[in-house]
Amino acid sequence: MADAAEIIKMTACGALDIATFPCRSDNYGYLARDKDSGLVAAIDAPEAAQIESALDYLGWDLTHILLTHHHGDHVEGVEKLRARGNVKVVGARADAARLPKLDIEVTAGQPWRFGDHSVDIFDTPGHTVGHIVYHMPGPKVLFSGDTLFAMGCGRLFEGTALQMWGSLAALKALPDDTTVFFGHEYTAANGDFSLDIEPDNPELLARIAEVTETLKKGGYTAPSLLGVEKKTNPFIRADTAAVARSVGLVGADAPTVFAEVRRRKDNK
Ligand SMILES: [Zn+2]
Repeated sequence: MADAAEIIKMTACGALDIATFPCRSDNYGYLARDKDSGLVAAIDAPEAAQIESALDYLGWDLTHILLTHHHGDHVEGVEKLRARGNVKVVGARADAARLPKLDIEVTAGQPWRFGDHSVDIFDTPGHTVGHIVYHMPGPKVLFSGDTLFAMGCGRLFEGTALQMWGSLAALKALPDDTTVFFGHEYTAANGDFSLDIEPDNPELLARIAEVTETLKKGGYTAPSLLGVEKKTNPFIRADTAAVARSVGLVGADAPTVFAEVRRRKDNK
């Protein structure tokens, strides 16, 4: 990281300060520091060097790595970061066999704590069968990994459309003012596809204008707000009449509409 000051975007979410920075070709790295306890979590470990540069620049001591899923571009940096010492690697107990060695195994429905903050773990099968996301209701943040992106969702490498719709529907039930930190900068392509589905959605048109400007300036479209996804993301909107009508499935159930939207994106 040649100039950390220029590539780190800071977001304050309640007691958490969260640093966003690019890793690899299109991953996002995140570091979340709890002001009360001083604990610092990396969300996934896409690239050790970039994460270490950010830690050094910020003067933060890494204490945790929260893994969302086993793909190489999310776990590659784990061992290098673990070697810094006193770093606890957290991940899904159910997928432990495919993840780097876990120090803390978490399970959906069993709350975990990061400092004084309760963390709700959601199973979000679809992109992989063992994918989990981390929701912190206090600071209202969601680390969504490769389940939910800005105007997009993860490809179905392992799970079914029915499973992925269930995952997205659970996240859709969270409050609108939840800040979403997602795994990849795919926003330009996702926005382009979203316009195919809802060309007349005014909120979508406004959002496209905004993210186009952000990307043109070299900025990041992460994080986003869940309320904005609910109004503009065609995948999480598969339960709306507008999206069902657009894909010629008026009256169909949400998983069926979702499957068709996902199929169209895969074939675009
Ligand atoms: Zn992935």
